[in-house]
Amino acid sequence: MRVAFIGLGDIGEPMASHLARDPFDLVVWNRTAAKADEFARRHKARVAATPAEAVREANVVITCLPSSIEVEAVLHGENGMLDALQKGTVLIDCTSGDPPTSRSIAAELGGRGVEFIDAPVSGGTSAAKAGALTVMWGGEITVFERVRPVVEAFGKKIVHAGPVGAGDALKAVNNALLAVHILSTAEGLAVLVKAGVDPKVALDVINASSGRSNSSENLIPQRVITRAFPRTFRLALLEKDIGIAAVMAEDLDVKTPLISLTAERFHEAREKLGEQADHVEAVKMVEEENRLEIR
Ligand code: NDP
Repeated sequence: MRVAFIGLGDIGEPMASHLARDPFDLVVWNRTAAKADEFARRHKARVAATPAEAVREANVVITCLPSSIEVEAVLHGENGMLDALQKGTVLIDCTSGDPPTSRSIAAELGGRGVEFIDAPVSGGTSAAKAGALTVMWGGEITVFERVRPVVEAFGKKIVHAGPVGAGDALKAVNNALLAVHILSTAEGLAVLVKAGVDPKVALDVINASSGRSNSSENLIPQRVITRAFPRTFRLALLEKDIGIAAVMAEDLDVKTPLISLTAERFHEAREKLGEQADHVEAVKMVEEENRLEIR
């Protein structure tokens, strides 16, 4: 099966590595060509010079880009994929995209005999390396079954969320919850530091109690208390996801003040910390505002 992979970023690169082996015949394209060259040095893959060249002979194309804006750009831009995609090809978009754009891409491609599935992932870079991501996909079951082996190469829990756009919707809400948990846990711990409680003791109790979350169980102990703050998922991308959830809520007329406030706070954090900061670094904003460290 000929597979083209577009976007070798923090999560795209480990995902693509699982496709660089039989029965797949992998071709990769990345905007910064040096990353694609480096990938091909370490894995069984060919490098394409343009997105069009990458997809010309592919049965399956995977995109893993920051947002739906870049997916549109790679589709419609110079040397873009659109005119090179063959009838019968399936485009699996693993970007955490936005539902309306995914629906419009699916409609445009459908008119050309090309199928589209939105298939955002969760589990982070460690699950991507292990080939054990959760994949939430939207689209037609018959189309998905044709490409299931490709998704199973990097996915473990694979769930049909509904029609095209449903995967994106579910991913945006999941990540809005992640953002709420990071900030609310940091705020709670800031209060406890000021109250004289050791944050390690606080986490020990919270993680045996009802206030726990992935943030309290994993992110804060492993990345904040240690002051390691590794870059695995850019804060700018999490801000984008909460923004998608906030717009969905507005469009659907659902009142979500907590999500809106968290979107504002992550916007602030992005302005302060920049494009390359990791999402967990949002905790630093809470620390600075309160002149303390959670350690
Ligand atoms: P990165 O920012 O690490 O990588 C983005 C990729 O997109 C790079 O290959 C980059 O190329 C490419 N790119 C950026 N802009 C353009 C453009 N205008 N045209 C063409 N290519 C472009 O992102 P991640 O890999 O972390 O994330 C990818 C997607 O997966 C996002 O939607 C994210 O929300 C989602 N995701 C990420 C997770 C994570 O843990 N990192 C977890 C779950 C989902 P270049 O190398 O040139 O910069």
